Amino acid sequence: MAVDLHLHSNASDGTDPPGIVVQKAAAIHLTAIALTDHDTLSGIPEAQAVAADLPIELVPGVELSVDHDGVKIHMLAYFVEPEPGPLQERLEMLRVGRGVRNLEIVEKLNQLGYPITMDDVLRHAAGDAIGRPHIADALVEAGMVADRTEAFAELLGDGGRAYAERDRLTATEAIMRTTESGGVTSIAHPLTIDPGESTLRSIFEDLRDVGLAGIEAYYSQHPPHLRTQLAGVAADLGLVATGGSDCHGTGKPGLAIGTGRGDLVVPDSALEELRTRRP
Ligand code: AMP
Ligand code: ZN
Ligand code: FE
Ligand code: FE
Repeated sequence: MAVDLHLHSNASDGTDPPGIVVQKAAAIHLTAIALTDHDTLSGIPEAQAVAADLPIELVPGVELSVDHDGVKIHMLAYFVEPEPGPLQERLEMLRVGRGVRNLEIVEKLNQLGYPITMDDVLRHAAGDAIGRPHIADALVEAGMVADRTEAFAELLGDGGRAYAERDRLTATEAIMRTTESGGVTSIAHPLTIDPGESTLRSIFEDLRDVGLAGIEAYYSQHPPHLRTQLAGVAADLGLVATGGSDCHGTGKPGLAIGTGRGDLVVPDSALEELRTRRP
C-alpha cells in the first residue's frame, strides 16, 4: 500500500479542487495523502471533509519556500491544522509578500512588452496563494507564450527577465514554528537544491539539529536509483525518508497522483515514521 505526501490543489497552483485531489487518490487506493499547497492551508477543510467519507487519510500540510544561509530550499510541513498558530500566522504574511512580488513581476512584464494586468492573473487563481504559475496562465491566455513551461523558461524562472524575489522564512524559523504548531517538517525535492559552497549532507545535518524530521527521498522527478540512495542518507542521519509526486493536476504535465511519472512508490511506512516524529 502506498501514500503520496506532496500534492497541490487549486488552493495554490494545482488545477484540481482539494476534494477532487482526495477523490482521485482514493480511486487508486492510496492509504493516505498530504495536501501541501504553497503557503496556504485554505484547501485543507474541503479535503478533510471529502476524505472523511472515503477510505483514505488526509494529512494537512503546506509547502514553504525557505532560505538557509543563502541556499533556497522547499520545506514541507505536515500535521499543521488550518487554525491559529505560530506557523499559520507566518503563512498569512507570506501570502501578503506574494501579492507585493506578483505586482512587481506584472510591472516588469509590462515594461518588457507583455501588457497583462493583475486582474488577468487573478482570473486563473481559485485560492489565496497566488504566484508565478497564475501569471504564466495569464500570459498563455493572452497568447504570449505556449504554456507554463515556456513562461518560466522565457520570463518567470529564477533570475529570469521578469523575475522578482519574495519574502522567505529561514529554514530554521520554518522548522521551529512548525514544531510549535504541532507539526513535522521534511525537505522537499532535495536534489533540486543548489547547495553552493555547502553540501546537501551538511544542510540536512544542520537542519536535523534544529528539528527537521525528514527528507523527500521518494520524489517523482528524482531518478529511481537516487531515491534509494537518498533514503539511505536519511537512515544514516536519523531522518525519515518521505515522498510524493508533487502533482499539480494539469499545471505540471506528466505527473500523476501517487505514481508520478509512473514509477513512484512511497511506502506507508514513510507516513508512519513521520507520525512518530510529531512533537
Ligand atoms: P512561486 O511560488 O509563485 O514563486 O512560483 C513557483 C512555483 O511555480 C513552484 O513551486 C512550482 O510549483 C511552479 N513552477 C516552477 N517552475 C515551473 C514550470 N516550469 N512549469 C510549471 N510550474 C512551475
Ligand atoms: Zn507549485
Ligand atoms: Fe517545491
Ligand atoms: Fe510542490
